[in-house]
Amino acid sequence: MAANKKVLMLPGDGIGPEVMGEVRRIVDWMDSRRHVTFDLTEDIIGGGCIDAYNTPLKDETIEAAKSADAVLLGAVGGPKWDNVAFDIRPEAGLLRIRKDLGLFANLRPAIVFDALADASSLKREIVSGLDILIVRELTGGIYFGEPRGVEDLPGGGKKGYNTLVYTTPEVERIARVGFELAQKRGKKLCSIDKANVLESTKMWREEVDRIAPDYPDVELSHMLVDNAAMQLVRAPKQFDVIVTTNMFGDILSDCASMATGSLGMLPSASLGAPDASGRRHALYEPVHGTAPDIAGQGKANPLAMMLSFAMMLRYSFDMEEDAGLVETAVEAVLDAGLRTGDIMSSGKKLVSTTQMGEAVVAELDKRAA
Ligand code: NAD
Repeated sequence: MAANKKVLMLPGDGIGPEVMGEVRRIVDWMDSRRHVTFDLTEDIIGGGCIDAYNTPLKDETIEAAKSADAVLLGAVGGPKWDNVAFDIRPEAGLLRIRKDLGLFANLRPAIVFDALADASSLKREIVSGLDILIVRELTGGIYFGEPRGVEDLPGGGKKGYNTLVYTTPEVERIARVGFELAQKRGKKLCSIDKANVLESTKMWREEVDRIAPDYPDVELSHMLVDNAAMQLVRAPKQFDVIVTTNMFGDILSDCASMATGSLGMLPSASLGAPDASGRRHALYEPVHGTAPDIAGQGKANPLAMMLSFAMMLRYSFDMEEDAGLVETAVEAVLDAGLRTGDIMSSGKKLVSTTQMGEAVVAELDKRAA
């Protein structure tokens, strides 16, 4: 029996607990069928935590997250907490856990399942078979750079400013994540910057070039961000792994996600730096929010959460085969025509959150028999 894998589950608010429930179904299946034991603990974050403790995240939860091998998060927030004080709003809990765990690398895959290619805003032939991974720097750049602020100008009016700053270690660690992921995938890495205008991203490009010889098997290219935005909607399949700054990654990953058709299908991972033993903090969460409009009605699509779990198997536990098994089961369920409301189209079978989860587990059963 493999060693226990410590996972902290933070379902959060709205549809968070509903979609997390379907991940529990896979965990139970793996426990019983695949001889992998997960040591699960569950805690609260976000609005529910504000109601109970007047804070969106408890210190004990941060400690539990630090000692876990991986954290699985649903989503936080909702109209009930829209007017709480700024420093205890649900999102503050999310920002704090990312910061305290040092999660500097955000991984956003954009994968188009063939059965859903028509749900994309782009033409089927442009997105069919799409499988790209955007690696976004998450803790530096213009979102955090100092000085920043808004000042009154002596003659009237104001001056607003932010600073785009990156250092060698910051660029090197995110670039290495990009190279290493490219090595495990299609061996192509595209670094995106604005080196023709911004000195800090010219330096970014030079640092990426400097470490490239450590990865001779990866074909490195560079692209300016304006061109990258165009290429992502013109011919997204030219990319394998993209690595970029915090702000460019924020924008480009949302742009790429639309190629896939639905928020309910998009997983993500955020990784910290490896320690001496190679262990790194990691948090896995769907891209979508708490969907208050459908919460508690059994309508939520659990697949983004289940695919986030698959990313956890791959990146925290090196369980490539099991990750692939979950992804193939999701694909099979879609091929069979099962759809939650968000991805429904004519001729398909509308199912609830739990029916979708049960169908994925039934496919796992077939494949692992
Ligand atoms: P949202 O992602 O919650 O919902 C947008 C739309 O997509 C809604 O119509 C919703 O029903 C639908 N949708 C989202 N996920 C779905 C799923 N799994 N299955 C089926 N349909 C799904 O975004 P929003 O409405 O802008 O935000 C709602 C709340 O969620 C807000 O309080 C916001 O702050 C919060 N939020 C949290 C996170 C997070 O925790 N990471 C991210 C985004 C938004």
